[in-house]
Amino acid sequence: LVSRELQAHDSVISVGGVKVGGNTFSVIAGPCSVESEEQLFGISQMLKQQGITMLRGGAFKPRTSPYSFQGLGVEGLELLKAAREEFGLKIVSEIIDPNDAKLMHDYIDCYQIGARNMQNFRLLEAVGEQSDKAVLLKRGMSATIEELLLAAEYIINAGNPNVILCERGIRTFETATRNTLDLNAVAYLKQKTHLPVLVDPSHGTGVKSLINPLSRASVAVGADGIIVETHLNPKEALSDGHQALTADDFATLMADIKPFVAAT
Ligand code: PEP
Ligand code: MN
Repeated sequence: LVSRELQAHDSVISVGGVKVGGNTFSVIAGPCSVESEEQLFGISQMLKQQGITMLRGGAFKPRTSPYSFQGLGVEGLELLKAAREEFGLKIVSEIIDPNDAKLMHDYIDCYQIGARNMQNFRLLEAVGEQSDKAVLLKRGMSATIEELLLAAEYIINAGNPNVILCERGIRTFETATRNTLDLNAVAYLKQKTHLPVLVDPSHGTGVKSLINPLSRASVAVGADGIIVETHLNPKEALSDGHQALTADDFATLMADIKPFVAAT
């Protein structure tokens, strides 16, 4: 179902009415985790000023350590909904439990399936069966491209065709960066599937200063957009502060990719 052989033209997926895929380069931005109203509204305001229409933010955080911040849960979803109402932003947020598909439906415009859950088949089926909202499916950190496509197939086969793929870096022998952003995969996927392909240079590199060059590389390789972590005060962030762009960094990024985006 994901193959270009079946459908030659690019799929355009609606995220609460905002189009992802086709001839646009989308930028989704926001904090790793929703932390407070002050934090989320501050970031939302900054993003609005930059012309951003889609806000990311985790309410349920699948953390490597059980002792790390696990997210605000439903309180976080309430804050995301408030940001949607206040700023008109479309909401992208991670689902980690198949039983939350219905609950999250009213709070979000796009479910995110995280790298750690790419092959959580019950979760894939839940967002496939219980919703027609967009699903941003992130590649598992040790998943092949074929496995990513088959994970997408689970969602579509269960009844929801609105899948957006996301390359977010894979595990390699390299330790200088958190992950190795696989731009091969982006170019390959663009040939192989009609689904939109986004890049996450934040998790893909884990290095703040590399997010800008890899975002530009994403445009060059034909990605349909990027999803980037931002924070007004990264030192105080409860997760992934080390890779969060400040308002100034984000403004620079937007200015730097603008000419390339316009050319696509
Ligand atoms: C995230 O987007 O904050 C996240 C946890 O991403 P990933 O699933 O790619 O690690
Ligand atoms: Mn993160």
